[in-house]
Amino acid sequence: IEKSRVTVIGSGNWGSVAAKLIASNTLKLDSFHDEVRMWVYEEVLPSGNKLTNVINETNENVKYLPGIKLGKNVVADPDLENADFLDLVGGDIAVKDATMLVFVTPHQFMDAICKRLVGKIKPDVEAISLIKGMEVKMEGPCMISSLISDQLGINCCVLMGANIANEIAVEKFSEATVGFRENKEVAERWVLLFSSPYFQVTAVQDVEGVELCGTLKNIVAIAAGLVDGLEMGNNTKAAIMRIGLREMRAFSKLMFSSVRDSTFFESCGVADLITTCMGGRNRKVAEAFAKNQGKRSFDELEAELLQGQKLQGVSTAKEVYAVLSNRGWLEMFPLFTTVHEICVGRLPPTAIVEYSEHKPKCC
Ligand code: NAD
Ligand code: 13P
Repeated sequence: IEKSRVTVIGSGNWGSVAAKLIASNTLKLDSFHDEVRMWVYEEVLPSGNKLTNVINETNENVKYLPGIKLGKNVVADPDLENADFLDLVGGDIAVKDATMLVFVTPHQFMDAICKRLVGKIKPDVEAISLIKGMEVKMEGPCMISSLISDQLGINCCVLMGANIANEIAVEKFSEATVGFRENKEVAERWVLLFSSPYFQVTAVQDVEGVELCGTLKNIVAIAAGLVDGLEMGNNTKAAIMRIGLREMRAFSKLMFSSVRDSTFFESCGVADLITTCMGGRNRKVAEAFAKNQGKRSFDELEAELLQGQKLQGVSTAKEVYAVLSNRGWLEMFPLFTTVHEICVGRLPPTAIVEYSEHKPKCC
């Protein structure tokens, strides 16, 4: 059997940890080539050095995952089209033969990335998206795995879960869920590539459910952060999480009737919701937003608190709001709606607990 070659597209906080996880497995598994390529959105560090060069020299992503060795078989590459899959004359064999693509960038960059990759990848390549988010286009909403599948004409699974990257980087036990559409064998190959004693991965046949869980919980995490910033306590936060989970399920099922209830009990569902509302970046920035009574914008706080890392919850709230508004569903989703209205300054942070008597009609 031909060995698989893996390229990771993205090198932020989670992207770097994913590359580390994968690289330790490709060394152990005979059916994979050792080398893992990682596409890096190039930037110049304050030292004047390029991030890619520093990663390759030190084996560390000093900006997005400082202090953690990625594995010597991780090769950072700043050239997206070359990083991977191009059948270059005289090109690197490892590059040319890449057969498995792991997408892990903030979701807002994926449309442009896919456009650059059209026609550049092998037609039978398998993809997986670790990206939590969705696109809303004129034609309607589009999950990131569908964007990848549709634009590149390839199969795309997803991997989501209760996965705060910095904890997995230091090999603390956690779980994740792979969502697949039809081909269980392909899903099992992804499970093999990611699994380790400290990272337990389960596959479920519900790609939309898994991806919507990962995407929508970021809106609830913003709500949880607001509650923290307002110092409202644990009961309020638990209530927000419960209402949020209910809206997550209702929205997912309205979007895709195939979504299974059981998916919400996997790592990608309730477990990710809990960890993100306790310790995630969306929570942290929303807490600061509420503490400042909404006087400093999310963009400003994100830049200050996350140092180049990106929030997904604020833009996801906007995207989901567009869907709700377009379909006349706003009143059915008071938490999602209110989070967006707070983020854009139409409502004060305190509004996060003022709608709770209006229960969603659909569940
Ligand atoms: P990050 O937020 O840490 O880093 C931002 C990344 O975006 C950097 O690699 C930066 O170089 C890159 N970037 C900046 N401008 C760009 C552009 N114009 N085009 C392309 N790339 C650009 O990234 P992350 O944490 O790896 O997040 C990626 C995805 O993984 C997100 O959808 C996130 O929700 C998800 N995720 C993150 C975590 C986590 O704990 N960090 C856990 C699970 C899932
Ligand atoms: P944040 O982006 O809010 O840090 O969430 C990370 C995550 O998705 C954990 O599973």
